[in-house]
Amino acid sequence: MGFEEDIERVLHEINREELVKLTASLVRINSVWDPDGGTSEQPAAELVAEWAEGNGFQVEMDQVAPGRPNTIITWECEPGPRTLLFEGHTDVVTPGDPSAWNHDPFGAEIIGKRMYGRGTNDTKGNLAAMLIAMAALKRSQVRLAGRMIGGILCDEEGAMIGVLDFIERGRADRITGAVICEPQNGLVCTSQKGAVRARYTIKARMSHGAMPLSGLNGAPALSRLIEGLHKMEREAVKNFGRHEHLGWPSITPTVIQSPSVGPAQLNVMPGEAKLLVDVRTIPGQSHEAIREGLKALAHQVEHAVREHYDAYDRELAVQRPHNLKVNVEFITDRPCTKTDKQDAIVLAADWATRHVSGKEPVHAGVPGATDGTFLWQKRNIPIVTMGAGEREVAHQADEWVDLDQLVETARIYALSALHYLQPGNSDG
Ligand SMILES: [Zn+2]
Repeated sequence: MGFEEDIERVLHEINREELVKLTASLVRINSVWDPDGGTSEQPAAELVAEWAEGNGFQVEMDQVAPGRPNTIITWECEPGPRTLLFEGHTDVVTPGDPSAWNHDPFGAEIIGKRMYGRGTNDTKGNLAAMLIAMAALKRSQVRLAGRMIGGILCDEEGAMIGVLDFIERGRADRITGAVICEPQNGLVCTSQKGAVRARYTIKARMSHGAMPLSGLNGAPALSRLIEGLHKMEREAVKNFGRHEHLGWPSITPTVIQSPSVGPAQLNVMPGEAKLLVDVRTIPGQSHEAIREGLKALAHQVEHAVREHYDAYDRELAVQRPHNLKVNVEFITDRPCTKTDKQDAIVLAADWATRHVSGKEPVHAGVPGATDGTFLWQKRNIPIVTMGAGEREVAHQADEWVDLDQLVETARIYALSALHYLQPGNSDG
């Protein structure tokens, strides 16, 4: 049996109706992680497990946290050096205010070629596509070498405890390449931005708004922090330039809050303020240097504001203790990822995209972090991120996916695996 024939046999097994039905069943499960509201990933993970068992896969469930399992499905092929992971997550973000939707967020309503609902785009459609692709490969009985793993993980939208548990248990140890199934609108993404996220806390002294000299205002520190962060961003832009796929590096103050807790009142000068900063990095930038820079800024601002108050108090002939404090803590640190364009997993994704779509694959970068970030960082696994769905539609109201593109995606996933696990590959 030749390779051309294998391709036809695999594609023949991809059934649109089955894919649409599986996507809809997943979307109809509210799998927002909301312990107070009583929803979690559990029912979605169980549905996948049941489906995979019904299709003859080996299925295991790892309890990551109460109500939050990972479902792992495995298919052992002929002996071979490669292990391919298809990864998709079961959690979805909250639909937010339901009145902002024109469709039931958990209705999986189909209008024309689109299916609407939370997770249709990010990423239950792509999760269904990867499962259908795996089943098609299995049903077609084509020869494959190595093994195929489906990692259906929890908590991608949160702290990513699902993928961390997956790695911790050694499940990633044998994986030689991974397809991260996320909405990238048909692009083959070989790089991902990194992130450093930090919280600045300014401790000043509260007072009546009519008697500001009896306290110490933290607001001048906020303005200096914002200025300083922008200066750091411009330096990064100048030093590292624009990445071909990821664009410019950025340092964005996102939350600026004073008082940092409790109700704000016009005639109360708050005693504490906070500023959250979201730093996104591109390959070449050192996270260590960024953290040092953010810490140095806290020191500089603290010093500058104290000096400012020293001078100003002399002008006003008042004497205040100037024990203003500016601290910075780090919340997240995730590296950029970059997979070699000549890696076998990229070549497989390129070939499959070309074959299915009839167009040249377009390489791109992922703006945010995914579960793939940790697979790359902790186990050096080459990753490509690809899937159906416009990127901006994720997390929006009236989230949708184009069902034609979803079918195409299942075909691309299947052929990527066919290419990657061809008997005769000698590398590992
Ligand atoms: Zn996602």
